[in-house]
Amino acid sequence: MALSNSTATAVQAPLKALWTRMEARRVYAQPFMDLILQAQTVHRRHFPANEVQMSQLLSIKTGGCPEDCGYCSQSARMPGEKLSASKLMEVERVLAEARKAKDGGATRYCMGAAWRSPKERDMEMVVAMVEGVKALGMETCMTLGMLSPAQAIRLKDAGLDYYNHNIDTSERYYSEIITTRSFADRLETLDNVRQAGMKVCAGGILGMGETEDDRIDMLVTLANLPEAPESVPINMLIPIPGTQLENAAPIDPIDFVRTVALARVMMPTSHVRLSAGRTEMSDETQALCFLAGANSIFVGETLLTADNPGEDHDAGLFRRLGIKPEAPGAAG
Ligand code: SF4
Repeated sequence: MALSNSTATAVQAPLKALWTRMEARRVYAQPFMDLILQAQTVHRRHFPANEVQMSQLLSIKTGGCPEDCGYCSQSARMPGEKLSASKLMEVERVLAEARKAKDGGATRYCMGAAWRSPKERDMEMVVAMVEGVKALGMETCMTLGMLSPAQAIRLKDAGLDYYNHNIDTSERYYSEIITTRSFADRLETLDNVRQAGMKVCAGGILGMGETEDDRIDMLVTLANLPEAPESVPINMLIPIPGTQLENAAPIDPIDFVRTVALARVMMPTSHVRLSAGRTEMSDETQALCFLAGANSIFVGETLLTADNPGEDHDAGLFRRLGIKPEAPGAAG
């Protein structure tokens, strides 16, 4: 049976508008002030102005990772001196740290383990951590490497709100940075997380020697997922001695801010998180990032292995900028 015109249109209509690199580049390459104005305008349409969500991150298992991510000091394959591998942290210690983070104002607690993927024998403790942090009234997030569909469902059932799994860079540049897993592996885990009903946290790292097109393509991949990630961390590489990228040239802060702004325009309802690398940024660069639509940060003294500006410094910067911490439970 022939379809009527209107039915044919409905069948062919895409589920959502997809970004092309050319469209994204047009946004990215505008005069800086125009880009920032567009990003801040989009931001205010979807989020309250002057509010930033605060997450705290804890490394529950450090070092000895079998993956070869060229930026990471936790890789057992890095060329230089290795970080010693720790055991998985006791559940009670994780919960004590989470209580401290909550008292310090963090609303989301992120727990990270240096694994290729969690082993079955570790799942019980990991599940207990999620349940315990959830019982404190905080949002929960984990980053444990690749997840099977069954593991994703188990974590969701334990109360995990978010799963972090960064795509790091563009598909084209990915194999220059990591060879032990593929870009497609990353997307598969993101799909498993989504299918299990969890929120997705996925972003990348800038300053790894990638081109502007790589940065744009990374955001095109994220924005074109069936559902954009609720949380998009944008990291600035901190070159760590002994890693493959120890001598990487720093990214121009203006290009960094442009990428934050592009993320805001392409993923208007996602939290765009200023993540690793804030210690290397001036207060002025951070302020420009907030103006460009970044509305989430990690607080606390350290990220997984890199320094983070201390809470006092962040509180002072927020006061100077008139920024308030976002209330718990806001979407994304
Ligand atoms: S980034 Fe994660 S997966 Fe890669 S080496 Fe470091 S800990 Fe392992």
